[in-house]
Formats: sequence, C-alpha cells, structure tokens
Amino acid sequence: QARGHCLWSLFDKIISREIPSTVVYEDDKVLAFRDINPQAPVHVLLIPKVRDGLTELGKAELKHEDIFGHLLYAAKIVAEKEGIVDGFRVVINSGVSACQSVYHLHLHVLGGRQMKWPPG
Ligand code: 5GP
Repeated sequence: QARGHCLWSLFDKIISREIPSTVVYEDDKVLAFRDINPQAPVHVLLIPKVRDGLTELGKAELKHEDIFGHLLYAAKIVAEKEGIVDGFRVVINSGVSACQSVYHLHLHVLGGRQMKWPPG
C-alpha cells in the first residue's frame, strides 16, 4: 500500500524520525512529542506506535485495549514530567465533527494554563 501521500503517514514519519519532533517520552508502545501548534504552555501529542483510529481500535483485538490503557498511563507520566500535575486535560479528537486532522490515533495532553469548560 502506498502511504507516502496520506496524511496519516505524518505521525508514522515522526515515529521513524523522518520528520523531526521534540520527544518528551517514549517506550516500546507509545511516543509523546510537542505539538507544532501548541494551544497551551504544555501541549504534547501522545500516539501509539501502531496506527489505528478510535473506531477501529474499539473493534479490534484485545491487545488494542491494552494500548488504550497504556496511552492513559503514559499521559500521566507526561503530565508529571512536564510539571502540570495541578491540572491538565487529555483530549482525543475522533472524526470529522470533532476536528480530527491527523488520522493516526493521538491524545492531546494540555496544561500550564487555566482551562475552560465546555470546549468549543
Ligand atoms: P487533531 O486536530 O487531529 O486532533 O490534532 C493533530 C495535531 O497535530 C494538531 O494539534 C497539529 O498542530 C499537530 N501537528 C500537525 N502536524 C504536525 C507536525 O508535523 N509536527 C507536530 N509536532 N505536530 C503536528
């Protein structure tokens, strides 16, 4: 399958280091790096090294449930490393209505300022 021109290949290239990013946490299952267009003083993207959307993951094998749990665990590690333990937000934009722009599952970890609720 040709992947070079698809938008979801962007985060694959960040994983492979073809596209540079500022990595703040990495293990065998996930990679966390700074968002190129930060919406808060701390804005880190956290991605599984396997590429699937939230919808596909829900239908998929049990190992994907493990990845979801690990992503949330890693979000806490990122928040601790970034010093935003007094309050932070974890967001998944899933699908068109939610303004997802990169179709590789990713968690936004945001903090370092007062958040508002509900989001726009
Ligand atoms: P989404 O809108 O899909 O939830 O989030 C995608 C995020 O990826 C956006 O916040 C956007 O700023 C970020 N992004 C897009 N391209 C790049 C890139 O090349 N490098 C990094 N570090 N972040 C990116």
